[in-house]
Order: sequence, then structure tokens, then C-alpha cells
Amino acid sequence: MIEDNFRHKGKRQQLVKTVTRKGITDKKVLEAIGKIPRHLFMDSSFEDHAYQDKAFPIAADQTISQPYTVAFQTEKLEIEKGDKVLEIGTGSGYQTAVLCELGAKVYSIERQRELYKKTKNFLNKIGYRPKHLSFGDGYKGLPEYAPFDKIIVTAGAPYVPKDLLGQLKVGGRMIIPVGSDVQTMTMFIRKSPQEFDKTEFGQFRFVPLLEDKN
Ligand code: SAH
Repeated sequence: MIEDNFRHKGKRQQLVKTVTRKGITDKKVLEAIGKIPRHLFMDSSFEDHAYQDKAFPIAADQTISQPYTVAFQTEKLEIEKGDKVLEIGTGSGYQTAVLCELGAKVYSIERQRELYKKTKNFLNKIGYRPKHLSFGDGYKGLPEYAPFDKIIVTAGAPYVPKDLLGQLKVGGRMIIPVGSDVQTMTMFIRKSPQEFDKTEFGQFRFVPLLEDKN
């Protein structure tokens, strides 16, 4: 059942305060966190956990990312209305919804068929309209829709996939957690067809970006 009541809204405002305290400043990102009913993106029996600043298990052994992490990655992308954004790892669709709230045209890829189908139906049901949701391998990106203004990878990448860098517009940016057990949040800004600026931020922990389909 889709219910978003005053109790949920109250807890959401607490969550906005928590991520603000942890250093998120972008008003639009905070507004999106304050608006999106995160409890609906997880199983209803776990509703009590929805507004804690924590990652949480969802279907197919995957996780809904921690709100702070979602906010951090989104803030670093400096999303402008109308940006064409590629997301790798649709998962629960929560990050997708944040990008939609910011006015991005979102293209997202998920490699677990079950999650892909479930999230596609769910986002539609609650009124989020990404441009394109796709079932497949995120390492390859979406060449048929490239280039993108922004790319966000929401699973831990053991290395930086070349195809993704190649699908970035000049002037565009990609945020990607790189590493195996623990990941270093890394941003690439494409300065020219050949040159990328690289910035590293702190350490994060994600489920792995897997290479082969089941
Ligand atoms: N953005 C999601 C995070 C989900 S966790 C959210 O907000 O809930 C990361 C997701 O990446 C998982 O759903 C996992 O199945 C997916 N994933 C892992 N490897 C992938 C790959 N190679 N291509 C596409 N998706 C992948």
C-alpha cells in the first residue's frame, strides 16, 4: 500500500538534518531527500529503518544505498535541470528518484532482472518517470543513448570501466566508487576528448559492480 503520513514526513525531516550535519549543503539535494518517501522503496516490514541514515538490504541480495551516500554522490555531480544522466545500478530506484526530483533525464541500468522489473513498475506507480530503465551490464554503459552530461555508478567498481568514461560529454562528470573491499569515491571531469581531471574523496562501502550476468 502506498501511504506517506505525517509520521513518515517527520522522520524524513530528521533524516535531512542528519545528512546536513554530516556535511551535505546542496539545497535541492536536501529537498529531494525531504520529499521522497524512502520507506516505500523497501519492504514494508522494514519501514522502521527507512529514515535511519543507513544502507539496507532489498531484493536479490542488493542494498538501498545510505541516504548520506546518495546525497554525497548527487551533490558532487552538480545536476542541472535537463541534464542527461546515466546511472549504473538502479537497485531500489531511490537514487533514480533523487535524480528525477532534480529535473534530470535519467537513464539507468540494472543487472538483476528481478530488481529491474520490480523497480520499473514501482517507480511508475509512485509517479517517477526516468527516461529509460534498462536490464543489462552497466560496465558497457548505454552507447545507443550516449553521450551523457553526468554518470553515477552506485556499486563498487574494482576498476574504472573505459566504456563509461568514453560516454561522457566533454565538460561532463562521472562519480564512481573505486575499489574492491572498500571504495574510494572518485570523480572524473572530462576536460577534452583525451583528458580527464580526477579527484578522490573519502572511503565508502558498496555492493560490488559485478561483471558477468547470472
Ligand atoms: N542506486 C541504488 C543502489 C543499489 S546497490 C539504490 O538507490 O537503491 C547497487 C546496484 O547495482 C544493485 O542493484 C546491483 O544489482 C547493481 N549492479 C551490480 N553490478 C551491476 C552491473 N554490472 N550493471 C548494472 N547494475 C549492477
